[in-house]
Amino acid sequence: MASAPALEHHVSLLPYNTFGIDAKARLFARFRSVEELRALLALPEVQQTEKLVLGGGSNLLFTQDFDGVVLKNEITGLEIIAQDEAQDTALVRAGAGESWHGLVQYALSQNLSGIENLSLIPGTVGAAPLQNIGAYGAELKDTFDHLEAVEISSGQLRTFTHEQCGFGYRESVFKGPLRNQYIVTGVVLQLRRKHQLNVSYGAISTTLADMGIETEPTPHDVSEAVIQIRRSKLPDPAQIGNAGSFFKNPEISQAKYDELKAQYADLPGYPVPGGVKVPAAWLIEQCGWKGRRFGAHGVHDRQALVLVNHGGAQGSAIRDLAHEIIASVREKFGVELHPEVNIL
Ligand SMILES: Cc1cc2nc3c(=O)[nH]c(=O)nc-3n(C[C@H](O)[C@H](O)[C@H](O)COP(=O)(O)OP(=O)(O)OC[C@H]3O[C@@H](n4cnc5c(N)ncnc54)[C@H](O)[C@@H]3O)c2cc1C
Repeated sequence: MASAPALEHHVSLLPYNTFGIDAKARLFARFRSVEELRALLALPEVQQTEKLVLGGGSNLLFTQDFDGVVLKNEITGLEIIAQDEAQDTALVRAGAGESWHGLVQYALSQNLSGIENLSLIPGTVGAAPLQNIGAYGAELKDTFDHLEAVEISSGQLRTFTHEQCGFGYRESVFKGPLRNQYIVTGVVLQLRRKHQLNVSYGAISTTLADMGIETEPTPHDVSEAVIQIRRSKLPDPAQIGNAGSFFKNPEISQAKYDELKAQYADLPGYPVPGGVKVPAAWLIEQCGWKGRRFGAHGVHDRQALVLVNHGGAQGSAIRDLAHEIIASVREKFGVELHPEVNIL
């Protein structure tokens, strides 16, 4: 067995979360391989305490110090592990500590498509299946083949197929019944050489036109368009602390949607199985939250779905603001919002 990496004490998590919250971890360690992770999990100090796996910290809100051990995933590696000439597909394996956007760039460099619409999503490959990341008409599950994960209680490495992951809208078994039981160490995607690009969503086609690309865009062009759109719409965590969309878009019944639509004629909605998905940003904006600032924290002025830390905010204050927003949307529309961000 590999020797366990050093355990550090009372480490500030400020550099490790995009909200920029200065919480502390009682214990902190990094692992660069499955063997190092297993060695850490075998330490009595680690076994006896609460564990938090940390990727890029871009989907987390610390509301207090973490009184357990933070295990930072730094497993690297990007490779094509199989090619299917007949189907024009390839299986790409990525170490869970690789950056997600790094994997997108690697795929593009190999002329492989399927994840270009997910360009520039912050964070690591290993966290991507947790909430089945999605953007611009694509989700991780569309190209997912399988993942490898270490069971925290036994240290055993196990493979999860697509079906076993139970993907849904920003959901998987790892956020549900298997929460805090597995640490993802590697992810395998099936990507295409025969491209089927999706440019129908949002402003992708108009941005491509602005880029002078009217016909036959490449996966690289689509990635560039998505990057331009994201940069124009979303605050950069390097400039202002945030974790992207704080809330999921609620899914309501058709009857509820019709009732609201009769009252609010411009209420947007997108049909989903069993109902209608409504943009949480629209609901929040209607409640007057967009751009509001309360000292060091507030709601972003261009994107009502994003809560921000202007500098020095407490995570608990951001959590309390989220609760106030949820209550006001409930009161005005009778719709329940749920956080997408993991609150600790
Ligand atoms: C500006 C901005 C824009 C964003 N845009 C999008 C978007 O378009 N679409 C989208 O889906 N998300 C988006 N997000 C959210 C975020 O980027 C994703 O959820 C991302 O997958 C989180 O990765 P991470 O490595 O930072 O996870 P972390 O924040 O480190 O962890 C998130 C959760 O996953 C767990 N976890 C992390 N790694 C592992 C692992 N290896 N095994 C098991 N559990 C693990 C953690 O314990 C925690 O519960 C955005 C965030 C920001 C800041």
